[in-house]
Amino acid sequence: MSFVQIQCTRCKTVFRDRAGRLQDGYSRQCPSCEVVLFFAEDSPNPQVKQAMKRARQARKERRETEMARVSAPQVRGNFSRTQTGRIQHSSEDEED
Ligand SMILES: [Zn+2]
Repeated sequence: MSFVQIQCTRCKTVFRDRAGRLQDGYSRQCPSCEVVLFFAEDSPNPQVKQAMKRARQARKERRETEMARVSAPQVRGNFSRTQTGRIQHSSEDEED
């Protein structure tokens, strides 16, 4: 799992979080000043927007590496049939 650097909007501390978590609606506390950072696509904070952009890129690269093919953007989750015919759901949010 790849990590993305995030700069706190308040104390400017740089910390890291999993790219799989940094999605629209996610929030977490700064480990230094404990301010809660909200991650939204339309965030007014350039630090947050930058982190989300990196996370999106990291997830995209991870998917492309694992699946060896390009997924359609904005599609959440991928459905694929196993050899037994069962439909398996794999989310991009899965932990490693
Ligand atoms: Zn902070």
